[in-house]
Amino acid sequence: MTEQDLPFSLSAGGQDMVARARDFARGYLREHAAAWERERRMGREGLAEAAKLGLTRLDAPREEGGEGFLAKLLVLEALSEEDMGFAFSLTNTQGMTGRLMVLGTPSQRERFLEDVLMTRRLAATCLSEPGAGSDFAGITTTAVPCEGGWRLSGTKGWITNAAEADLFLVYAQTDAAQGWRGIASFLVDGRQAGFERAAPYALAGGHVIGVGGFTLTDFFVPEEDVIAPAGEAFKSAMGGVNQARTYVAGMVNAMVASALSHAVTYGKTRQAFGAPLLTNQGLQWSLADVANKLEASKALTYRAADLIERGEDAMLAAAHAKKFAGDYGAPAIAACIQTMGARGMLDDIPLGRHLMCAKLACYTDGSTEMQNERIAKSLEKEFG
Ligand SMILES: Cc1cc2nc3c(=O)[nH]c(=O)nc-3n(C[C@H](O)[C@H](O)[C@H](O)COP(=O)(O)OP(=O)(O)OC[C@H]3O[C@@H](n4cnc5c(N)ncnc54)[C@H](O)[C@@H]3O)c2cc1C
Repeated sequence: MTEQDLPFSLSAGGQDMVARARDFARGYLREHAAAWERERRMGREGLAEAAKLGLTRLDAPREEGGEGFLAKLLVLEALSEEDMGFAFSLTNTQGMTGRLMVLGTPSQRERFLEDVLMTRRLAATCLSEPGAGSDFAGITTTAVPCEGGWRLSGTKGWITNAAEADLFLVYAQTDAAQGWRGIASFLVDGRQAGFERAAPYALAGGHVIGVGGFTLTDFFVPEEDVIAPAGEAFKSAMGGVNQARTYVAGMVNAMVASALSHAVTYGKTRQAFGAPLLTNQGLQWSLADVANKLEASKALTYRAADLIERGEDAMLAAAHAKKFAGDYGAPAIAACIQTMGARGMLDDIPLGRHLMCAKLACYTDGSTEMQNERIAKSLEKEFG
């Protein structure tokens, strides 16, 4: 996608950041992404390269190198044209730098900021558990007050970057009787006693995301490292989710655009029955359908992004954008693969990885069904 497609303009700094991301994607990521998937591992050295380009400052305030949400969205789109899994891993770890810069105490900045910025340490956000995903209020990791802080016990699962991360924003229940109001969030330094990492999940694809889990056993968190107390943590988690839903939709759009580009480029030259593939109306119409849905999805995504950038309520717009992207992404990419014949299955091009990541996008930051719930709640107000 190019800047000309955008219904908004970016600052010069934002344009520069996006250009750096695009060059990195078309150079470094294009060269390495397939190998990470073949080796079923995270792209740790790629994250370090991205850090050198300032791409771990996507959530940073402007005075510390951030360029706002629209620039972040376009950076993640640029990276996703080659490897959405990598982009997802990057945005999850760099989210911690933004948090430390904006909300961190001097001691937290001193202990963690530089290491996370340079990806010497990776970070992760941990709501989900093996027994609780969509039902976030149903988490069973507990936090019990003790002298000087809290003791955390429980198991987290399905956490991006958990394969290698060791700094975590962990959500835990302080009082089950209070339901969501009892949930607080804590900064967990995985290098301390009481932390045990599980083996990363063997997935159908997307290993670069480093999805895994860990168990905390009487893990001590000092009072200073309580990030949000009971009553506030659940709301702050839900507050950030609109951004995430919007950039996940943008990542799907970028993968679809990339798949279309591969399909069209190949279809122009591949000969069948004495003519280029793309002279067949059946294939043209299939790709026209993909392009049509891509346009609709971009409009929904950029509408939500614009609301977020302007500080307005984006809850419903983000739900619409994420649901639409989740519904059309995987079938659209599959259609592009189909147009290319067997060639579309080889891993020197990213379409197979795109396909699996488009499916993963249906779960992260609230599943498609949870977007349906959000949209359904608005029906009476919007149409009743
Ligand atoms: C690649 C990847 C990365 C992730 N990274 C993170 C991370 O960094 N941090 C984190 O905390 N979590 C992460 N997750 C977990 C993600 O948030 C959960 O997968 C998601 O919340 C859904 O939970 P679940 O998979 O347990 O599905 P479940 O909650 O068990 O639901 C199963 C299915 O039932 C549907 N369903 C559930 N309840 C209802 C209902 N009331 N009505 C209709 N349908 C319903 C769901 O939508 C889903 O399709 C990640 C997941 C993936 C795949």
